[in-house]
Amino acid sequence: MYACVEENNQSRDPQVHWIRVFEMEKGEGRRLLEADPYYAPPEVPEDGHFYVPVQCPASAGTRRAPRCARPAPPGPEPTACVVVDYDWCIGCRYCMAACPYGARHFNWGKPAIPTDALNTKTHVLGNRPRPQGVVEKCTFCIQRTRDGRYPACAEACPVGARKFGNLLDPDSEIRYIIEHKRVLVLKEELNTLPKFFYFYAT
Ligand code: SF4
Repeated sequence: MYACVEENNQSRDPQVHWIRVFEMEKGEGRRLLEADPYYAPPEVPEDGHFYVPVQCPASAGTRRAPRCARPAPPGPEPTACVVVDYDWCIGCRYCMAACPYGARHFNWGKPAIPTDALNTKTHVLGNRPRPQGVVEKCTFCIQRTRDGRYPACAEACPVGARKFGNLLDPDSEIRYIIEHKRVLVLKEELNTLPKFFYFYAT
């Protein structure tokens, strides 16, 4: 989460987090709505709990464009990753209302990033500093992945729990995982065809 903040020039005050990690109690029938997004234990994992990171799942929607890209001026980018053009965003927030994952974030306040924390390697549709009054979201680190690098969150994960790859490549690790592991997506019933999968390691 904090690797994403640093890489993508997210505001430190007020804080913006494109990834949110929910803490949930173990047990049958747990619902994401019951999760605690504000947990602060001295150590993780806490006994009897597990953790669910949530971010933009790059869903495809049931029509041509994802739900979030239908109502507002910012549209899908050619690689199928939805991005926001911060110069065109008028701050109407219809895209936020349309996103069933709560994955978009609005800059209510003026974003603030300490000068020495600024990532100067930016992409115009990704991690360049944003003004107040626009929406932003995970771009799958467009400034990295366009150069063949892993997203910051995947690179930072100390246990390799995050995998990133080309779903269209039948020989990719990501395809292997999806075809051989137990996999789930959030809110499958909405038929948004998310491209963010959760898999069981065993
Ligand atoms: S892919 Fe990049 S922008 Fe998206 S959550 Fe991971 S670090 Fe943040």
